[in-house]
Amino acid sequence: MIANFHTHTPRCCHAAGTEEQYVRCALEAGLQKLGFSDHTPYPFPADHVSSFRMGMHELADYADSVRAVGKRFAGQMEIFLGVEAEFYPKFFKRLLPVLLDHGVEYMILGQHFLYNEVEGIGSIGPTADAALLRQYVDQTIEALYTGQFTYFAHPDLMHFVGEDAAYRQEIRRLCRAAKACGIPLEINLLGLSLGRHYPNRRFWEIAAEEGNAVILGCDAHRPESLVDPKPEEQARALAAGLGLELLEDVPLRRISG
Ligand SMILES: [Zn+2]
Ligand SMILES: [Zn+2]
Repeated sequence: MIANFHTHTPRCCHAAGTEEQYVRCALEAGLQKLGFSDHTPYPFPADHVSSFRMGMHELADYADSVRAVGKRFAGQMEIFLGVEAEFYPKFFKRLLPVLLDHGVEYMILGQHFLYNEVEGIGSIGPTADAALLRQYVDQTIEALYTGQFTYFAHPDLMHFVGEDAAYRQEIRRLCRAAKACGIPLEINLLGLSLGRHYPNRRFWEIAAEEGNAVILGCDAHRPESLVDPKPEEQARALAAGLGLELLEDVPLRRISG
């Protein structure tokens, strides 16, 4: 890989390593571009505490730390400041100006909850409820059409164990929307290295039929995972076997207010 735009930091409470350790591993792996995309803080009501993202008060330190390694490693590595964000319609409009104020350059879409995480339900399942799958697809399509996201991380996160025909119909709708918006879909290397239910072969068969553009994302939660060649090899084999169009780099979509 020459570019990875999916990297976390310990602020999300389930990752380890300093920014500098991530950059050093990225250099060792031969990357030219490294994007930090920790789980975004979200302007939830004050009484809601999210267990897997930084708090609002940590965003300034996150932004400063990423910019600092960007400067320190200038000339060796291009470093970008991003976030991984869910599209929560109720809170999204309030999120954008906060990210812009802190100089966040890009967002990737990772939809871990349906509706939102204050009132909604997790999207990692498993579930056989086709209405939940439809909600996942409706909500992420709406997200894609905001024009704010650079790419769609683990689009196959929803673990649907219901009827195959329903899965194919909904995922085809999702893939067509991503293609219409020009937004690449990510094959998630963390899912491969942890043996999760994604990457989901059924999903990628449909993406191949629809001709979606695809990118690899490390989803690194520890620096060493950037230098592990195994999940990358598996992902490339999956893509090649299905005839997926694999991008090695993507232009970042700037967030707009
Ligand atoms: Zn995470
Ligand atoms: Zn992630």
